[in-house]
Amino acid sequence: TTTRRPDAAAHDALVALDRAHLVHPVAPWRLHEERGPAVLSSGRGVWLTDDRGHELLDAFAGLWCVNVGYGQESVVQAAAQQMRRLPYATGYFHFSSEPAIRLAAKLVEITPASLTRAYLTLGGSDSVDAAVRFIVQYYNNTGRPQKKHFISLQRGYHGSSSTGAGLTALPVFHRGFDLPLPTQHYIESPYAYRHAQGNDPQALIASSVAALRAKVAELGADRVAAFFCEPIQGSGGVIVPPKGWLKAMADAARELDILFVVDEVITGFGRTGPMFACDAEGVEPDLMTLAKGLTAGYVPLGATMLSEKVYAGIADGAPAGTAIGHGATYSAHPVGAAVALEVLRLYEEGGILAHGEQVAPRFAQGLEALRAHPLVGDARHRGLLGALELVSDKASKRGFDASLGLADRIFNIGYRNGLVFRSFGDHILGFAPALTITEPELDQVFLRLRKTLDEVLEARDVRAALAG
Ligand code: PLP
Repeated sequence: TTTRRPDAAAHDALVALDRAHLVHPVAPWRLHEERGPAVLSSGRGVWLTDDRGHELLDAFAGLWCVNVGYGQESVVQAAAQQMRRLPYATGYFHFSSEPAIRLAAKLVEITPASLTRAYLTLGGSDSVDAAVRFIVQYYNNTGRPQKKHFISLQRGYHGSSSTGAGLTALPVFHRGFDLPLPTQHYIESPYAYRHAQGNDPQALIASSVAALRAKVAELGADRVAAFFCEPIQGSGGVIVPPKGWLKAMADAARELDILFVVDEVITGFGRTGPMFACDAEGVEPDLMTLAKGLTAGYVPLGATMLSEKVYAGIADGAPAGTAIGHGATYSAHPVGAAVALEVLRLYEEGGILAHGEQVAPRFAQGLEALRAHPLVGDARHRGLLGALELVSDKASKRGFDASLGLADRIFNIGYRNGLVFRSFGDHILGFAPALTITEPELDQVFLRLRKTLDEVLEARDVRAALAG
């Protein structure tokens, strides 16, 4: 639906400037130049409008971050007030600011009890990068400098910093970047749909634990620093492990004397139901990385949470009075912190977390109902995080030939139908709406999604792939 008269000339001029000058994150650069951008211009609740006046239902909360929806006036006010009072204060040396102090205390209060210190970052990649650097420093400062190897999951995503992109186990983040590093290693993903033990949750958990033990044994326990994981793998295709998996991995890491790092950049702040995915299983990690929902995307900010053991190991092992040389101009940014404090207030006192939990069953029903669709092989979800995996043959779980360019086609048809979601690889569609989404809006998501899948199915080459 078109809500305002599109200004075609202004649109064309913007598109030309984008193609000529703007380098896009995680995009095929030359292909993007050919295709040009979709220019988003305004948002309210779960609704977006592009610069041609096309209305879109955002079923992905931006990039799984706008958990409170667009247009939350109190968040805008929090930013404006802090900018007026003091737009910037460094956190370097001994400087501080009230929002940064209050946010650190609040994060320590709401994260698992093991976490007692908060380092405020620029976003998720920076949170992971800080975690890696702090872990290296921790072992150097506590007399075990040989513990330098990192283990993470196949299909994991931990951002694209120079250190984090190697913990990430997705090919495009390695290709051409000389990654992974010799100290970065992977174990199997708990990908139930495509795992030999997929039908038996306990066997799948046992398989992951055995894989972690085997990898540590192979590398030598005295050389392994940490295990990093997402409670639900996001960019790897929304892979939802069985309940109990996270706890089992945390227990195994403890037994193996390696640090357990939970990357809750996506799963934090109510995305899966509770404030953190760790809460559902009583997991107390050594470090936790946060971003996205922390400010709901209104401004960039993340956090790296540390246990007292890790903090004290670093602090007490450094020469007295010497700086721990990690930080950025915008670390602990007061505007980011003020925004985060208001967003956290909205989750709790504003009832947004509770609302998300209340509508999650409708989200689950919508995805489950699509299992019967001829294109859908798997539906998986927890809270308001979910995915559909498309297959050309449900029995063999065979995917689609990459030459069909299915992901792109589905995205384009969805966009035309006024729906934004995300695709992973060529055949996984991800959904993560704002926690403020209403049940009627969720019904709209699934109406538009079904229409989109039906249109895809009408294409002769797709039908031929199914028949074959
Ligand atoms: N870790 C996880 C689990 C993520 O999903 C992401 C981003 O999607 C990151 C880290 C990196 O965060 P950012 O994109 O804010 O740098």
